[in-house]
Amino acid sequence: MTPSNFRPSRVVVDLDAISYNVKEEINRLNKKQELFAVVKANGYGHGAVEVAQIAIKAGATGLCVSNLDEALELRKAGIKVPVLVLSYVSLAYLPIVIDNNITLAAPSLEWLEELDQVIEEPVKIHLKIDSGMGRIGLYGKESMEAAKKILDNNELIIFEGLFTHFATADSKSLEHFNVQQSRFLEALEILGEGVKYIHTANSATALWHDAWESNLVRFGDAMYGMNPSGRELEEPYPLKQALTLETEVIHIKELNKGEKVGYGATYETKGKEWVATLPIGYADGLIRRFQGYEVIVNGKKYPIIGRVCMDQCMIRLDEKVPVGTKVTIFGQNQHEFNSVQSGAEYVGTINYEVTCGLTDRLPRMYVGTN
Ligand SMILES: *Cc1c(COP(=O)(O)O)cnc(C)c1O
Repeated sequence: MTPSNFRPSRVVVDLDAISYNVKEEINRLNKKQELFAVVKANGYGHGAVEVAQIAIKAGATGLCVSNLDEALELRKAGIKVPVLVLSYVSLAYLPIVIDNNITLAAPSLEWLEELDQVIEEPVKIHLKIDSGMGRIGLYGKESMEAAKKILDNNELIIFEGLFTHFATADSKSLEHFNVQQSRFLEALEILGEGVKYIHTANSATALWHDAWESNLVRFGDAMYGMNPSGRELEEPYPLKQALTLETEVIHIKELNKGEKVGYGATYETKGKEWVATLPIGYADGLIRRFQGYEVIVNGKKYPIIGRVCMDQCMIRLDEKVPVGTKVTIFGQNQHEFNSVQSGAEYVGTINYEVTCGLTDRLPRMYVGTN
């Protein structure tokens, strides 16, 4: 989808906020710990290249993405730092991986066995352990011992990292976290010796578990200024939300009592009401469940009324405002602030999904001096 630049709806990303969040986290790390910025899914909707560049400036020494295309986007932008692909990459693409100096996650013993067969030039890998996420990674002692044999005997496979991913690091309950810890300790015993990077820490593990056993932190959600636990756990330092979603009033009228608004005519005016139309809808990621959510105009909150359309939605105001008046869906507007978290709760999801769901139709603009 091409960005709609001639329409006044946009995502504004505060690069200073990202820089601040990265620096705050780095300040908490010791000198031997590095921070890799996680910029998968177009930087959680914020723009992968721009976020990567500011994160590197703020002290990140590498980047994580979820697939090879995302890694190549960073290389094409001229970014030179290590890029680790966190998920599966088919070994059919090994020449592209090598040409672009990409680091791969080894997701299974089978994958590693295939690599052992086809490798002709050095490739850097981080071996993933499934300690209790049930997603990718080596599971069980036998596969780890078999992996060790391959890694010990193939000099072309550069065994640079050993890692795992916690399923519940954002939770108050430590039960499953402890199970995963003990399993990863087993993996460390078998495979950990002399490996440059040991890493277990997503944002939640970094924030609330002291980046357990990690000399590298994979910092995602919190870098964007969002709390990975939602509201379950308190941030150890105040995170700054980088994302603003804003639009403008494109139409306003005063409807009489008893008029209907939107598809299905689900809203009816209770008296004379000022109703404004906004040029943003579910095709932008403002899903239909945002019906009723309060956006901010001139420092006051007003509800989205009627069903959200594909490209437009309507709000109810107390007074007439001129066409062109700014409307803040997420972010600061005078003394009012809408967190992405509040929107996520309103529609019954997590903050990650809200920013990732903002589509390419919304132009991304960048502010900040860092
Ligand atoms: C997405 C992801 C991260 C980053 O997680 P956040 O909660 O956003 O910090 C880290 N590690 C892996 C394996 C991931 O898939």
